[in-house]
Amino acid sequence: MIKKLYPHGKPKAFNITYDDGVLQDVRFVELLNRYGLKGTFNLNSELMWQEFSWTHECGMEVKRLPQHVVVDLYRGHEVASHTLTHPYMHDLSEGEIMYQLGQDKANLEWIFGQRIHGFAVPFTYYSPLIAECARRCGFTYARMSEERYTYEPPTDDYYWAAGAFHISPGFTDFVQGFWHTDQELALCQIVGHSYDLDAENMWEQMEEILKRVAESPDVLSMTNLELVQYLRAMRSAQITEEGIWNSSEEELWFNIDGNVVSVGAGEYISRSYDYLS
Ligand SMILES: [Zn+2]
Repeated sequence: MIKKLYPHGKPKAFNITYDDGVLQDVRFVELLNRYGLKGTFNLNSELMWQEFSWTHECGMEVKRLPQHVVVDLYRGHEVASHTLTHPYMHDLSEGEIMYQLGQDKANLEWIFGQRIHGFAVPFTYYSPLIAECARRCGFTYARMSEERYTYEPPTDDYYWAAGAFHISPGFTDFVQGFWHTDQELALCQIVGHSYDLDAENMWEQMEEILKRVAESPDVLSMTNLELVQYLRAMRSAQITEEGIWNSSEEELWFNIDGNVVSVGAGEYISRSYDYLS
């Protein structure tokens, strides 16, 4: 039997993707770093250049991080676009959507000195036009705000539905189920904003989850981009009764009849147990 695995032969992956680039990300990134985990942070470049803040319904003032701290803070994690100014996108023309996505991508690339591949939609808006604009702006994937509540990874890179928001009622059950699922390529993706860890008093619960991920030998921490690229490569693999052909540029991992095997980029392995020799 052939079962697909994540890199290094891990059967499960964990990703946390947080939006808005807010002050509480400092504490949150420290937590991720303490446990050796990677996150994805979706930023609005234009709101870093102003002292933007708003008042949460719990009375807390939510503040954005300024540009001069973000480069050091997010080092080792993925930074992605969340539009220039976090607008309600249904009010925007196609040209304005292209500007919000394309200019934010360009600004973040300038600030961070690296290519920005990911886009996460602000609020809960979705239209096929957003996905199309993300593609045309050169993004590798577009993450939506719709929650999937499954461990099955998304298959549409430009309609990447979220796993579960950490403030959703089903969140605790969603995470609990992940430790026990036997879903192939199981993915636990947590979406949200770090200010809600303050507002909902969830820091302790979140730290327990991160600690368990770090201590779980069968779970790999991946960024959203790493997941998209790996899963895309996995979808292109040709798996037959005779063997596996990996036509992608990524090393792919499988469990074949109980043996963990990697197939290098562009390589073919025969099912006749080449990998045992
Ligand atoms: Zn947002």
